[in-house]
Amino acid sequence: MTFATLGLIEPLLRSLEKLGYQTPTPVQAQAIPAVLAGRDLMAAAQTGTGKTAGFALPLLQLLAMEGPKVAANSVRALILVPTRELAEQVHEAVRQYAENLPLRTYAVYGGVSINPQMMKLRSGVDLLVATPGRLLDLFRQNALKFNQLQTLVLDEADRMLDLGFSEELANIYRALPKKRQTLLFSATFSDDIRLLAGQMLNDPLSIEVSPRNVAANTVKQWIVTVDKKRKPELFVHLMRKGKWKQVLVFAKTRNGVDALVEKLQGLGVNADGIHGDKPQATRQRALDRFKASEVQILVATDVAARGLDIEDLPLVVNFDLPIVAEDYIHRIGRTGRAGSTGEAISLVCADEVNLLSAIEMLTRQTLKRQNEPDFEPEHRVPETDASGQVIKKPKKPKKPKASGGGGGKRNLGKWVDSGEVAPAEPSIKPVRKVPVFNTGPRKRKP
Ligand code: AMP
Repeated sequence: MTFATLGLIEPLLRSLEKLGYQTPTPVQAQAIPAVLAGRDLMAAAQTGTGKTAGFALPLLQLLAMEGPKVAANSVRALILVPTRELAEQVHEAVRQYAENLPLRTYAVYGGVSINPQMMKLRSGVDLLVATPGRLLDLFRQNALKFNQLQTLVLDEADRMLDLGFSEELANIYRALPKKRQTLLFSATFSDDIRLLAGQMLNDPLSIEVSPRNVAANTVKQWIVTVDKKRKPELFVHLMRKGKWKQVLVFAKTRNGVDALVEKLQGLGVNADGIHGDKPQATRQRALDRFKASEVQILVATDVAARGLDIEDLPLVVNFDLPIVAEDYIHRIGRTGRAGSTGEAISLVCADEVNLLSAIEMLTRQTLKRQNEPDFEPEHRVPETDASGQVIKKPKKPKKPKASGGGGGKRNLGKWVDSGEVAPAEPSIKPVRKVPVFNTGPRKRKP
């Protein structure tokens, strides 16, 4: 199968040739003809499957071949994405595909000044990539009109709900013309996403390119159990032992990112960090330097790293397990792409056992444990398995107390690092708000 047999026009084929894309990926083979035919789409596809080209190529073709010239402050196709990084990345892909087409494309997102964006929108944009919050700001300030909108794409819809964009999505939905084509892409399909799809899509074609909620099996995954306070030390030990070259590391919090980066830099390691508190330009620079192999270790929070497309990444390290189990799949999706093998290592401490169990249940596998000599935890991480069970061994009878000991309290003190607050019982899934839409009768596309 070729891109030409999928019905793509010559200017797009030329761009693809320049990019070296020879064969459509499975999601592209299914999505391109369906989108060209005007169908709504509900696609289960994670980053790395070629989903961006799957929706962007046919979308650009429809924009080039059909419809009116774009009017002032108008937009004909809208791609909604959860983060600024993904907005930049998707727009960069779109720009490359559209190189030989007379279309105007642009990306808008928060964290940067709104005025240049308002100026740019004045003359209208054929295809706009946007994060939900900034899009609404622009709409409310009359910098954007949606009456010419013919296609809406929700990219990484699950993540938009996770990040709490449900209200923004509902407000955007209300402002859009009812007659339109809608494409929804999501790595995972929770009940909330299915509800959203039911409200937003019209007789969609379902595409599933990887088994539901199953992590890529080209990724070798294992965990090392360790006491929480010794994680940085273990990380450095594994890094030296494994002679790690390019590693993407995930930490739970912004402080966690900063602390690890500081430690690594203090040891002379070329490390940088990205998280939501850093200005967009700084984040982008760190990412570009990591991609160019000028930075060896990039530490990121889930939000900042969302959708990062880094080719041939050999190793992902979960310094902390994600709070939302689905994020584990997103994280390790950065490695083992396109048939290459990758490795994903998670450092797991005792108070992450419920998170571990949720991940194993979601990915339907028991993660292999590999103990690191000298790092065996004092606080044992209970055995878990893919059934979601945490296997608690019966407690050993307590030895009689020696005189003057602190008893159980001392143990509790060791559980938590100094200066940290003990985490509440981790919730496996945060409560997500699902937008309530006015689901009036929908008109079909002619
Ligand atoms: P995505 O899943 O959209 O983030 O794409 C993952 C990576 O695959 C990107 O670097 C794309 O440029 C690349 N890619 C997408 N489609 C193809 C294709 N048909 N052949 C080769 N590379 C592709």
